[in-house]
Amino acid sequence: MADVDLAVIGAGLSACALASALRRNQTVDSLVILEAGRGPGGRCATRRRRDDGLWRLDHGAPTLSFSAAPQGRLGALVDDLCDRGVLAPDAAPVVGLDGEGALCEPPAHPLLCGPRWRGQPTMAAVAETLLADAGDAVFTSFGERISKLSWEDGRWLLPGGWRAHTLVLSGTLLAHPRSLAMLGWPDVPLRSAVAVGVDPGLDAALESIAVMTASVRWNLMLELPPVTGDPLPRQIWLTEEVQDRCGVERLVLHQQSDGRLGLVVHGLDDGAEIRPDTQPDLLVHHEKRLLAALPQLLVPWPALQAALPEARSLGVMRWGAAQPLDHALPRHLQWCPQARVGFCGDWIDGAGFGMAEGALQSALELAEMLQ
Ligand SMILES: Cc1cc2nc3c(=O)[nH]c(=O)nc-3n(C[C@H](O)[C@H](O)[C@H](O)COP(=O)(O)OP(=O)(O)OC[C@H]3O[C@@H](n4cnc5c(N)ncnc54)[C@H](O)[C@@H]3O)c2cc1C
Repeated sequence: MADVDLAVIGAGLSACALASALRRNQTVDSLVILEAGRGPGGRCATRRRRDDGLWRLDHGAPTLSFSAAPQGRLGALVDDLCDRGVLAPDAAPVVGLDGEGALCEPPAHPLLCGPRWRGQPTMAAVAETLLADAGDAVFTSFGERISKLSWEDGRWLLPGGWRAHTLVLSGTLLAHPRSLAMLGWPDVPLRSAVAVGVDPGLDAALESIAVMTASVRWNLMLELPPVTGDPLPRQIWLTEEVQDRCGVERLVLHQQSDGRLGLVVHGLDDGAEIRPDTQPDLLVHHEKRLLAALPQLLVPWPALQAALPEARSLGVMRWGAAQPLDHALPRHLQWCPQARVGFCGDWIDGAGFGMAEGALQSALELAEMLQ
């Protein structure tokens, strides 16, 4: 057994910001971060390729969206990351596309209404930097999705032989019944670990999490050759009417360092049940339909449209909970002291709900609660 003060599940933006804040305040001496993905970033990660050392594709969030200019500790964090060149204001063009295939104003979506910052050189750099700031006292384990939790004699026992005084979940997976069907799990691990009645705060938090819903995205990733001609936008948002017709929310373009172009087609979900046995066919289905929708969507950019026959598909990434849609976790349930469980992430109530702002803000607030 390896003992640590704190175990954090996940290494997305909120988990890395939490680790950085806790180490800066010296609230914990040791912590472990257990992440299912291959590296930090979560939904703000950047896809790399084993066969292509230069390739970097922001295949989740292409930008950090805020509802308003960040203030206080959040403002200081953004300023610090900007000063160090890890964030830069995102001034890249965002355009809308209407039902006639003409350019228009982008829709009034919460992700587009306030200021935005972009990770430099990629989105993953933000989480990577925050994690590095947390220093050597942070152990990390990547590549294993935790599916079992136990709480014995006031200690959290985790796969890999970790034993922690405090547990933080930065995602809802271990606390939400959606995991039962989507991942074929037999139970909700956090519920099974702590019996009903032991921590009334945790009981209330689990009830609140159980009714949350989240959007699903099927993001098709494409590699295109260099495209010459007019400058291209960073994001192309479809109007609601076109989204409904094509099942696509937006297109995101990511210029590569060698001139090639990455294109991510943010595909909407059609409600088909996602289970371990249905997922392979669903991935094929969404890849086909998104590839078929593209030529029509690229009419205003003839050079880009002309490059499509040379596009190489890098597959589809399913984001099982791309953005929380409703029922934010109330802030007073973010820390459950009896069972010593905390929550952070963009699904905590606040102005930045469902976006990067909420992930960072929730981490800073939980760090205060843990002090
Ligand atoms: C396609 C897409 C587009 C988006 N666009 C925007 C945008 O334009 N602007 C914006 O601000 N936001 C956008 N978002 C939302 C933004 O990405 C999130 O708000 C933010 O990244 C949330 O960070 P987080 O730390 O709360 O969660 P996450 O990034 O989801 O981090 C949670 C981490 O925990 C890990 N994890 C969960 N359960 C387990 C487990 N059981 N075992 C091990 N690891 C586990 C996950 O793998 C993940 O890495 C977008 C998201 C998606 C998916």
